[in-house]
Amino acid sequence: MGENQTTRQTVAVVGLGLIGASLALALKERYRIIGCSRSPKTEAYALSHGIVHEIRPLSDLRGVDCVVVCTPLQTVRATIEKVYAVVGESAIITDVGSVKGFLCGMSGRIVGGHPMAGTEHSGIKAAKKHLFENATYCVVPYRNSAPQDVEFVCSLAKSAGARPVRMSADTHDSLAADFSHMPHMSAYALAASAIGEDCSVAGSGFSDCTRIACSDPDFWTEVFRLNRANVLRSLNEFASELSAMRALLEKEDYDSLKTALAHAQKKRLALAAARSGEPECSLTVDVRDEVGSIGGVVDLLAGERIGISNLHIVNSREGESGALMLEFSTRSDTCAAKNVLAAAGYAVSQKV
Ligand code: NAP
Repeated sequence: MGENQTTRQTVAVVGLGLIGASLALALKERYRIIGCSRSPKTEAYALSHGIVHEIRPLSDLRGVDCVVVCTPLQTVRATIEKVYAVVGESAIITDVGSVKGFLCGMSGRIVGGHPMAGTEHSGIKAAKKHLFENATYCVVPYRNSAPQDVEFVCSLAKSAGARPVRMSADTHDSLAADFSHMPHMSAYALAASAIGEDCSVAGSGFSDCTRIACSDPDFWTEVFRLNRANVLRSLNEFASELSAMRALLEKEDYDSLKTALAHAQKKRLALAAARSGEPECSLTVDVRDEVGSIGGVVDLLAGERIGISNLHIVNSREGESGALMLEFSTRSDTCAAKNVLAAAGYAVSQKV
């Protein structure tokens, strides 16, 4: 063990899947990382691929500075309880779960966390060091969270390359219901209602609206259960918008319908303008830190006549791989670029 490794702060990551292993990779230069997962095979993989410095059972986490619980949502509360039984008040406990209110009132130095990053894949083999680069990382203080513990979780998020944003659990869960949970429910409903025997006219618009209905039903049932009140509130608001539009159509009041559509269009355009680059239209590509690596990516896409609307280097460290963020003006260009780059052997991820 190198000297700097003995003096570094120690972070334990419990649950070495997509998010946990990605976080371990992103943090391991700055912190000493102890890994702990459910399957011995996953733990062996984490050690042999240098994802963690050390593996320890959950019962042996005493002495660490912080424990990050990255297990599936349905196990987060029980895992935090087990961790608390071991570390007590000696370590900060944080999590990465997609709902935050259900941890209110738990014992321990708990600070909630939710990195707004992911991919369509899961498990340790899908882990990426750059997954959190530039992503929003919600940091949620609870009533008994100490300011210095909240600060520590913010610094973890920054070390992973993310942008920490502090908010209450209520605010997080309400926003998450509107911008993530209700859209998933409505995508499932639309897929269920529209897809029948004849799908010959289902085009890219339909695919865009229902893409997230391909997500894991186990995970989403748990999200809806844990954030039930907010999701019901958001669904009611959505349903009342739909009912109002349906009523105008029934009455054949096309002027009012057009006004309602124009109002929604204006809101959506303002959102697009407020954001720098739609996440659906951006890709992160892992590249080696060597001469010509960026040119290789650009030339490959130019050869396929795929235009890049913006390009920036997300990270570049000497002698290591870095990441390029590419932005495109349309979703079809983004998909085409993703396919071309993946076929050429590049590791490509699309922020979701
Ligand atoms: P994942 O890839 O399925 O990883 C979860 C890992 O946890 C599994 O690989 C499993 O590892 C391990 N595990 C399961 N039960 C465990 C237990 N009782 N104790 C210890 N380890 C256990 O899932 P994920 O996508 O990383 O999601 C993990 C958390 O991140 C969830 O709370 C989710 O809400 C949150 N999150 C996910 C995303 C996303 O887009 N995926 C985004 C933000 C936040 P083994 O191989 O050892 O069984």
